[in-house]
Amino acid sequence: MKENFSPYTYEVLKDDILMLRRDFPDVKVGSIGKSVWGNELYYIRLGTGKNKILYNGTHHGMEWITSAMLMKFVKDFLKAQKNNTSLRGFSIAALCERTSLYIVPMVNPDGVRLSALGLPRSLQQSEKQRLLRMNGSDNFTRWQANAHGVDLNHNYDAMWNKSKELEAEYGIYAPGPTRFSGTRPESEPESRALAEFTRLHNFNMSIAFHSQGKVIYHGFMKNEPPRSMLIAKAFTKISPYRLDETEGIASYGGYKDWFVDKFNRPGYTVEVGEGQNPLPVEQLPKLYAETLPILLGAMTVV
Ligand SMILES: [Zn+2]
Repeated sequence: MKENFSPYTYEVLKDDILMLRRDFPDVKVGSIGKSVWGNELYYIRLGTGKNKILYNGTHHGMEWITSAMLMKFVKDFLKAQKNNTSLRGFSIAALCERTSLYIVPMVNPDGVRLSALGLPRSLQQSEKQRLLRMNGSDNFTRWQANAHGVDLNHNYDAMWNKSKELEAEYGIYAPGPTRFSGTRPESEPESRALAEFTRLHNFNMSIAFHSQGKVIYHGFMKNEPPRSMLIAKAFTKISPYRLDETEGIASYGGYKDWFVDKFNRPGYTVEVGEGQNPLPVEQLPKLYAETLPILLGAMTVV
């Protein structure tokens, strides 16, 4: 393990949630469900407006820096709200009146655990063996999937069969560290919980944060409304991120794909930061500064 390697794990998230509840007693915190290993899938709500939008982070085990980024945003936002100040020129009071932002900072806590710290000691021997077989070694650093070996961002009902078809081309025939789409859409507790939460709240817009590449993906199979591209272009003007299009197996079955396909509303994937996953935590200040205008600006657009 690298020196100064301090991954943002589920344990860190839990501590942050405790701190939030202590420092901001009115903050709305809840859970959308539980992971395979029984970890809570927390959500935090900011603002009380009619415009409901959703941000989520860390569908993929190696991409925990997106959870750290979203939680830093939550803390800065609540602090500014408490002090009645603005953030990057945005009036927090005005944002809160206009929008209710729901944030699910860590969709895949078990995947983070595997990637950042390896197999939990507490696992039953049979489950350890199963994961070791799926992974092909005891080095789980490159693990992206959940604890069942399903890639959660290939597990949504958006041309899922196409994703399944393409797996063979990538040599994927069984659960493993990445890209296995499951046995059916929403087969996993994490993806099902997020899909149910989305259906329940009927969000006007969603952004799924991944790492890395400094790119924004938008739309799905032309099912997005015309304003979707305008919003994406606005994001590129207020941040150093550029628009891109997915290719191959990454083009189907993702949360953003499903959101656009089912609701015909603006949905985005934003790949934060630059380098090789897992991005070092030292990159957090830079990528936070880059994405803050998007995090704030998206609350004003729909
Ligand atoms: Zn990802």
